[in-house]
Amino acid sequence: MKIGVLALQGAFAEHRRMLSSLGVESFEIRQKRDLERSYDGLIIPGGESTVQGKLLIELDLFESIRKDILSDVPVFGTCAGLLLLAKEIENDNRKHLATMDIKAVRNAYGRQLGSFHAKERFEGVGIIPMTFIRAPYIAETYKNTKILAKVDDKIVAAREGNQLVTAFHPELTDDVSVHEYFIDMIRRREK
Ligand code: GLN
Repeated sequence: MKIGVLALQGAFAEHRRMLSSLGVESFEIRQKRDLERSYDGLIIPGGESTVQGKLLIELDLFESIRKDILSDVPVFGTCAGLLLLAKEIENDNRKHLATMDIKAVRNAYGRQLGSFHAKERFEGVGIIPMTFIRAPYIAETYKNTKILAKVDDKIVAAREGNQLVTAFHPELTDDVSVHEYFIDMIRRREK
């Protein structure tokens, strides 16, 4: 199994470190050439969705990545990655890959709550630590999107088929369970 980690900006190194601690091979996607390698899953890290969205287009990665997601390659977006996958962003008229049936709210917790931690239940996993940094939340889910976690009544993790998103950053904690969940999604697809 090999996972491609979008490495244009943001917390991609932390994702790779976590994958390697689980014995999973990964590589960085920085330019078009990197997409010649095949990947069994894709991670879109946290960072700044506007910057990553712009670079996806400038570096001509947008169409291939979008096509892969739409053809069922498992994808895991954290924080800014969630915003890149959302079909709708309530307080931003930009849309990016727009493959997932969720409506997200950007920088949803306000400046004073820029960063915080929580411990909540993640469906099928248990109670896990969650680290939020200028995080979005999901205001609404549509179609077959399943809610996986809520914090203070706000949706912070969801899944729609091959697409998994978290508003928090599991790669910034010691808890590997969300990455294991994603790896399991890939394994089940490979069978
Ligand atoms: N606030 C960022 C955005 O709007 C997301 C923050 C993060 O990824 N930690 O893209």
